[in-house]
Amino acid sequence: MTDYLKNELEKAQQCLLETYELATTYGDNEEKDTSKYLQLMERICQMRDDSIKNERALQLAMAERNIPDFESAFQRELNANRKSCQAIKTREYKVFCDRLEEIANAGSTSSGAGGTRQSNASKDGGLIEMDMQVNLTDPLTKRQMVDPVKNTICGHVYEKGSIQDALRINPRLRCPVAGCGNNRPVNEAHLKPDNALKMHLQRLADGEENSGDEM
Ligand SMILES: [Zn+2]
Repeated sequence: MTDYLKNELEKAQQCLLETYELATTYGDNEEKDTSKYLQLMERICQMRDDSIKNERALQLAMAERNIPDFESAFQRELNANRKSCQAIKTREYKVFCDRLEEIANAGSTSSGAGGTRQSNASKDGGLIEMDMQVNLTDPLTKRQMVDPVKNTICGHVYEKGSIQDALRINPRLRCPVAGCGNNRPVNEAHLKPDNALKMHLQRLADGEENSGDEM
């Protein structure tokens, strides 16, 4: 398998875990549903498996001396290995399951610590909404974000386009969030998509659109 694909699949896997971690804090029950993450992980394992099969078939077919023979050898080899991959039996999948469980456990202990706050919030959802409001707005444009990225150094979130524009103007720009203790210039390499927040924003936007359409 090419290093590129291998890296991309690992990144995707890491991203799933991070999204789940955020979902345990900000997400609703649907986002906390581990089965979705497991399904996606199964797809990742399948892609890895497909790639290995393709590569093997390609290598075998390379022994042929002309294109039609090459094609039929390649197809024959692929068909012989068509049996769907047993993704859930792979080591990667097991490791992933363990990590999900760890995150779920960590999430439940931390929400236990903030017990009173949690129970207050669940009565009317007020406190959680307030927490979210702070994070929904881009610190640069003060507008609601659409494609949020998180600065992994300080944890602050910005709209992707606006932080990129600001960095183009001032490459030594520091975190624009007032009172941020991070004195290092923002580095684009430290900006990671905040997928859980993006999902949340998307859902809010969909909700607004629907209520707006109701005439
Ligand atoms: Zn910051």
